[in-house]
Amino acid sequence: MCVHTHTHTHSQSEVSPPPPSTSKAYPLKRTNRKKYYYEAIFLAIIQKNRKMAKERGLLSPEDFAQLQKYMEYSNQKVSDVLKLFENEKMAKYLQGDAIGYEGFEQFLKIYLEVDNVPHHLSLALFHSFHTDHCLKENVRKENVVCLSDVSCYFSLLEGGRPEDKLEFTFKLYDTDGNGILDSSEVERIILQMTRVAEYLDWDVSELRPIFQEMMKEIDYDGSGSVSLAEWVRAGATTVPLLVLLGLEMTLKDDGQHMWRPKRFPRPVYCNLCELSIGLGKQGLSCNLCKYTVHDQCAMKALPCEVSTYAKSRKDIGVQSHVWVRGGCESGRCDRCQKKIRTYHSLTGLHCVWCHLEIHDDCLQAVGSECDCGLLRDHILPPSSIYPSVLASEQERKHSKTSQKTTDDSNLCISEALRINPVSNTHPLLVFVNPKSGGKQGLRVLWKFQYILNPRQVINLLKDGPEQGLRFFKDVPDSRILVCGGDGTVGWILEAIDKINLPVVPPVAVLPLGTGNDLARCLRWGGGYEGENLAKILRELEMSTVVYIDRWSLEVIPQQTEEKTDPVPFQIINNYFSIGVDASIAHRFHIMREKYPEKFNSRMKNKLWYFEFATSESIFSTCKKLEESLTVEICGKPLDLSNMSLEGIAVLNIPSMHGGSNLWGDIKRPHGDSCEINQALGTTAKVITDPDILKTCVQDPSDKRLEVVGLEGAIEMGQIYTKLKSAGHRLAKCSEITIHTIKTLPMQIDGEPWIQTPCTIKITHKNQMPMLMGPPPRSSNFFGFFSCPT
Ligand SMILES: [Zn+2]
Ligand SMILES: [Zn+2]
Ligand SMILES: [Zn+2]
Ligand SMILES: [Zn+2]
Repeated sequence: MCVHTHTHTHSQSEVSPPPPSTSKAYPLKRTNRKKYYYEAIFLAIIQKNRKMAKERGLLSPEDFAQLQKYMEYSNQKVSDVLKLFENEKMAKYLQGDAIGYEGFEQFLKIYLEVDNVPHHLSLALFHSFHTDHCLKENVRKENVVCLSDVSCYFSLLEGGRPEDKLEFTFKLYDTDGNGILDSSEVERIILQMTRVAEYLDWDVSELRPIFQEMMKEIDYDGSGSVSLAEWVRAGATTVPLLVLLGLEMTLKDDGQHMWRPKRFPRPVYCNLCELSIGLGKQGLSCNLCKYTVHDQCAMKALPCEVSTYAKSRKDIGVQSHVWVRGGCESGRCDRCQKKIRTYHSLTGLHCVWCHLEIHDDCLQAVGSECDCGLLRDHILPPSSIYPSVLASEQERKHSKTSQKTTDDSNLCISEALRINPVSNTHPLLVFVNPKSGGKQGLRVLWKFQYILNPRQVINLLKDGPEQGLRFFKDVPDSRILVCGGDGTVGWILEAIDKINLPVVPPVAVLPLGTGNDLARCLRWGGGYEGENLAKILRELEMSTVVYIDRWSLEVIPQQTEEKTDPVPFQIINNYFSIGVDASIAHRFHIMREKYPEKFNSRMKNKLWYFEFATSESIFSTCKKLEESLTVEICGKPLDLSNMSLEGIAVLNIPSMHGGSNLWGDIKRPHGDSCEINQALGTTAKVITDPDILKTCVQDPSDKRLEVVGLEGAIEMGQIYTKLKSAGHRLAKCSEITIHTIKTLPMQIDGEPWIQTPCTIKITHKNQMPMLMGPPPRSSNFFGFFSCPT
């Protein structure tokens, strides 16, 4: 059964393997870097499979590749194929749960939707399922395999709801179909769990009694057998059954290098053959441990030293250094401060957790305990993460009671791993949108995977936010870092809204790409430019928590036949606008999708904005806006009668479109903006008096919105290019209703759309704790910034 696990290596999940035929194409062509990179990763995968195959004397890497290819193209589900075995035609192949080679071939044919599965492949697969536990007497064991094992293996490669999978596994193991798992069936389950644990490198000797205890606990009513209800309840609340059965591989497969091709500006030696890789030549370096090899040596490389969690009780709590040879980039020993010379050989050691670099001879003097180095405040060392089955009984009981209090409406499957962080640290959960900021997103992802525990670093496009948030749910004093644009931040905040956390960790932002207004306001800058990430994490330690308002936006369209765009968001984090500003944004958006090459730098973006802002068509779309809409603030109509408006903007934060401030800065005393507003009498629910508005300071956590009128497209262009500082202040209030009577351009947080006549209601939703960067050293860092805390 160990054959299945090859599909769940983290390196493989980054890219899919090439078609089977290429596995013979080595040595690789150097001309095609990308292909070469994929194949290097593929090599690492088949290397592990080869090791497993060797242990059993069975499947070759080529067989695995072939099988994967078949699986990719097939639409069959295991459960459907199993149903076929219930009817007469197929039932003849079954002897109890056992199935002979002929039947197995039939299973493969149907499941893979291939008429002629190569004989050697079916035979090799068949042999790999050999066990002796499903045998009835008088059947010779080399002639049959267990159908439930086979199904388990394939269904693991399919998706599906956790509830379904739990029910499915129950039926798999209820071999006599009597609706309960009796003691012999439970024994088989424990056997399967032990195999999975073995594969995951957990300490099996301590697990067997735990598994037995666990299965007893699952039997809530103490009847001596497990019913389906008991099974599903346990799998959904306390016991990570799907993980233990190998059906839910949320556990990344430790021991796999994550190869990346790399050129070196200094002499580097291969960790395997110890020969030079050659200046300027390309080798493969593991992104997690910096183990570096020639391409041709990758296949024979030792397993990756980065183990992301404790696999035995003795490894919980105390972290030891994990030394890997070479990789001493600083060239100086952290122990004796002398140079680490690299005279034609692999020299020195570096620890993959604290990143100390030392002489081989200094190893004794350093001691074994690792404190995780300069970034220890952020790191979850492997000693702080462990399989939840290893949690003490007390801990397990505790989690049982805390689970009961959470929302029962969405079944949340019990976590495989548990976190018990080092005291006085602030474990960081990093979300990276690898598509943000061009190639920068991916680079940031890789760098964080190296400097933190890879388990703390979530690839949003691969895994989404929920899994990570749930993993960190009970970690005290944690922080979140979102790497991406404002849109990515909004995505994470929404996920936090949904998941119902006991305590919401404060959120910091590493802005990728351009025009990130929220990040700017929080002093994280408008866009990351390749700065040292370790330095940014040190700054994070000095950040302070601010509570940023978030607003619900409800659009109620009037009965109309007209086609309308979907409203992009229901929540405003930054700003909302109607009219000229939105119209510019809308055209800008469309042009950028059409001609991305024209929008590749900040300066050009600004110039384009200016051009749109002054173009004739826009000028006319939103003319006399005050005649097309009415605005109510906190129930009172806003008087727009003496205005000539082409746009109205509603602001939550003091930055728009990459740093423009429509409200404008004011001369004001230094200090806490909330206190200033109180002193100036500007905390009322509704303010429309122009004299008081003049003194109002914008504060993203005052549960108030600022309303600004825009006189025209030219004025907008001027504000964007900083020729003019602000629009016309209309009001500050806590609730807004807008009625429109014609189709108008609108936008939320920079996302534009065209809206038919409607009523728009904006109300306060909640506040989210966000981290604000330390104050800038130079005073004119962000001139527009107006809400320091
Ligand atoms: Zn590695
Ligand atoms: Zn080598
Ligand atoms: Zn260390
Ligand atoms: Zn030394």
